[in-house]
Amino acid sequence: MDQHLAAELCGVLGEGSRVLTEPAVLDRLSHDFYWYSPVLRPLLVNKNGDVAVQPVSTDEILAVLHYAGEHHVPVTVRGAGTGNYGQCVPLHGGIVLDLSLMDKLEEITPDGVAVCQPGLRLGALETEARKRGWELRMYPSTLVKASVGGFLGGGSGGIGSVAHGALRDFDNVRAFELVTMEDPPRVVRHEGSSVHEILHAWGTNGVLTRIWFALAPAVEWTQATAVFDTYPQAFRFTQSIAADPAWTKRLATVFEWPIPSFFTPIRETTREGKALALLMIASAQAEDFGAAVKAAGGEVTFSGPYEGPRTRPLLSDYTWNHTTLWAMKADPAYTYLQCGFSATECEEQFRLLRERYGQEVLFHIEFMKNGDGQVIPGAIPVVRFSTEERLNDMIAYCRAIGVSVANPHVNYLEDGGRFRPDHVQLLAKQRYDPRGLLNPGKMISFRKQAVIR
Ligand SMILES: Cc1cc2nc3c(=O)[nH]c(=O)nc-3n(C[C@H](O)[C@H](O)[C@H](O)COP(=O)(O)OP(=O)(O)OC[C@H]3O[C@@H](n4cnc5c(N)ncnc54)[C@H](O)[C@@H]3O)c2cc1C
Repeated sequence: MDQHLAAELCGVLGEGSRVLTEPAVLDRLSHDFYWYSPVLRPLLVNKNGDVAVQPVSTDEILAVLHYAGEHHVPVTVRGAGTGNYGQCVPLHGGIVLDLSLMDKLEEITPDGVAVCQPGLRLGALETEARKRGWELRMYPSTLVKASVGGFLGGGSGGIGSVAHGALRDFDNVRAFELVTMEDPPRVVRHEGSSVHEILHAWGTNGVLTRIWFALAPAVEWTQATAVFDTYPQAFRFTQSIAADPAWTKRLATVFEWPIPSFFTPIRETTREGKALALLMIASAQAEDFGAAVKAAGGEVTFSGPYEGPRTRPLLSDYTWNHTTLWAMKADPAYTYLQCGFSATECEEQFRLLRERYGQEVLFHIEFMKNGDGQVIPGAIPVVRFSTEERLNDMIAYCRAIGVSVANPHVNYLEDGGRFRPDHVQLLAKQRYDPRGLLNPGKMISFRKQAVIR
């Protein structure tokens, strides 16, 4: 906590401003789900901002960044803090810029683009959009809590990606305005391909303040689970649904046993020893889906309507990175990786991993469309952690057999996946934050042009 900095910021923002210094509040606002990683846990647990501020307008953000720039104070942006590898944990103290109060949905345009502030929660946007005949194209399994700005700053894709790809694909993010850390800070607009300079840059090269996010026409969805005797059976069935454009789907997930045994609240959808497939299918196709499961030798164990983020059970709560959470609840020795398998060679890749690591790696597949329109087996395998060396061996082996890995056990962009090989995020940082004050330490290829205090 830094009382002098807090007093100065109260001066910048005026009476009644939202400048927070309570140690417990600072600790909470300085952390996310970094503890998912046994490697990051000890490195980040004691990292805190000195002061948190909660701006309510772009003008206030401009004023805070102007002050921070003049006094060489680091600024780390925070949405809802659901990132899972310490993306919003300040490594060098300074100001935590909490955008949760900037949560307005300005409009949904007639062609289905949501125009909103960054702190708007994705769940709130999904609910409001569905009332107006639209829905999110894709969302993380942290839908209810996560913010639109945080998703663009630190996320990649999720439920819906099997049809619409990741955030970076298919013009899903139309445009945004951001505040730079130049001298003086200013508001700039990025649209079209220039959004890639800022997307998934962890708030290191600008603060998103206004976002144009493309939606899809709303569909009446059915959530369904099916069990199969073996993992290959469940995998092939789900892949056939995911890859066939005739099926309208939002989610296509497969778990090998014993992962389903971790899902205690939906135990009735699982069967001892069996692999589980979990899907969202257009309700108009629910009957055909049941017949397809039967024909493939499986059994439908649950089928029910999706009625928005408050649906119970909400099956997406068991998918994407929530799967890891259930595994860790069952046994804290579990952790995870973020992988991309080959659409054509994946069965051989599964075999090689099983041969080398046995049950240390448990398969959890999330089908998603890539930028070329091909549906590929993305994966968030559950991994039994022993040592960092063993984890690194696993990562190196995955890469050697053609399985891509976005490493969630590092706290910098370059190895965490989504760092652009054309370096456009780095070039934007050099342009917009030459003093290296935005979330310092998270883009390690950047060399700052002035020293942080
Ligand atoms: C259980 C669990 C499941 C998850 N599932 C998924 C998933 O399915 N898909 C997925 O992609 N992710 C997933 N995540 C990660 C995370 O929940 C999402 O990426 C989420 O969208 C992050 O939003 P947030 O508001 O919590 O962002 P935060 O964690 O607050 O921030 C994320 C990053 O973005 C930056 N940032 C925040 N706001 C802004 C802004 N306005 N301008 C610039 N930078 C900003 C932050 O500095 C930080 O670096 C999961 C995490 C957990 C713990």
